[in-house]
Formats: sequence, structure tokens, C-alpha cells
Amino acid sequence: TSYGFREVNTGEKQGLVNDVFHKVAKRYDVMNDVMSVGMHRIWKDAMINALNPRKDAGYRFLDVAGGTGDIAFRIVEASDKQAKGTVLDINGSMLGVGAERATKKKLADNLTFVEANAEELPFENNSFDAYTIAFGIRNVPRIDVALSEAYRVLKRGGRLLVLEFSEVDLPLLERVYEEWSFKAIPQFGKMITGDAEPYQYLVESIRKFPNQENFATMIRTAGFSRVSFTNYTGGIAALHSGWKL
Ligand code: SAM
Repeated sequence: TSYGFREVNTGEKQGLVNDVFHKVAKRYDVMNDVMSVGMHRIWKDAMINALNPRKDAGYRFLDVAGGTGDIAFRIVEASDKQAKGTVLDINGSMLGVGAERATKKKLADNLTFVEANAEELPFENNSFDAYTIAFGIRNVPRIDVALSEAYRVLKRGGRLLVLEFSEVDLPLLERVYEEWSFKAIPQFGKMITGDAEPYQYLVESIRKFPNQENFATMIRTAGFSRVSFTNYTGGIAALHSGWKL
């Protein structure tokens, strides 16, 4: 069975997404490792390398759909604990796990956790040097609105980086990937969380997300310059980059 989310409107879509992450928050980090066979760590490290945050105390970043904090922790560490970041997520359960992890990692002084919607950021114009979002934008009902908000809150010269599942460009890998994602992942989800459906929903949302070129066009449409992308692992994931110039 599936949620049949193709038929539902924006409000219901966000409701389904919220249910999924409330259910999985506590086991989210384990599931991430299982589902991506640990690869999400490599992709996230590559994202932080691409960002190359300044090592100065004035550096401000916003990590949207930041969930349990993975991206924000990496940015703070890459800045030699200089950068100050805001982790924003629509889901309080995910943020709760993130805030706890931040304290354990002694990174809490660098981070603020904010419960809000990517489509309606509670920040002034021109506030951040960087806006990051990893495996989150495909869950946002109105991607164009989220991208306009990203543009608005970035400073001039600010950087947008979006890490997301994308279109696989190697036929053999695609076959393996399809088997893995459509059959194995929901089963693992069921084993670990007792429920296959949330994972089915997540996997389907990957299919619906625009491919590399089309997503790059959406980023340009939101106003960003010098838009480019890099594929990771044959396009299973892609990193899109843009600048507010
Ligand atoms: N960035 C983290 C990572 O890479 O591990 C978490 C990614 S998780 C797959 C997706 C996150 O997007 C969830 O925490 C979910 O609550 C959040 N999310 C979904 N819709 C959102 C929205 N409209 N605004 C902000 N966050 C949203």
C-alpha cells in the first residue's frame, strides 16, 4: 500500500511528511545509515567541503530541514567552531533529537534550533552567509516558495547549497538502486520502526523530485546566479549550488 500522495493537496502532503518524521525521529540517524549504506555521510562531507565555511565568528549559516543536526554539526566543526548556525525544521521531534545531540557534542553554544516552515522563514532579509538544505527540499510542498525564501534571507554574496536525491545516470546502477529503494528500504523501515509505509512515501517522493537540470532551472528562477550541480554516486544524490550576487 502507499499513501497515494500524488492525489493529495499541499496541506495534506505536509501533514504526511510531518507524521513520518514524528514517527521516526528517535531512530532517524540509524535508519539513515542503513538506508544509504552509510553513504549519506560521504555526501554530507562533500557538501561541507564545497561550502568551505569561513573560520570567523561573524559567519552565519541557516540549515533548513536540519532535522537531527548532521549538516549543522559538520559546518560548525569545519569552521573550527567559529560559525554560528540556525537549525530550522518544521518538526519539533526531529529538532529535539538534534538539540540533545548538539549538547552531547559540545556544539550547543554555536547553534540555535527553530521550529518553522521552509516556505515561511522567520528571519529578516539578508541575514545569512549560507543556506543549506540536505534531503529536505523534496519534502517541502512548494519548492519554488522555499527557494525564494532562501534567496531573501541570504546576504549578497551568500551561498545556497542543496543536497538531494536525484536522477541516476548509470543504467546498471539505476536497476540496483530501484530494487534497493523500492523493495529493501520499506522492509528495513518496517523492521526498525514497525512500519513500512513512511518509507514507501519517502522513496516515492524521490521519484517525483525534478532531475538535476530541471532543479537547476528552478534555482535560477528564484534569482540565484552561477548555478551548478555535482552528482554523487552516479546521481543517486546531487549537490546544487547557487549564489545571491
Ligand atoms: N537534513 C537532515 C539530514 O540530512 O539528515 C534531515 C533530513 S530529513 C530526510 C527531512 C527533514 O525535512 C525532516 O526533519 C522534516 O521534518 C523536514 N521538513 C519537511 N518539510 C519541511 C518544511 N516545510 N519546512 C522545514 N522542514 C521540513
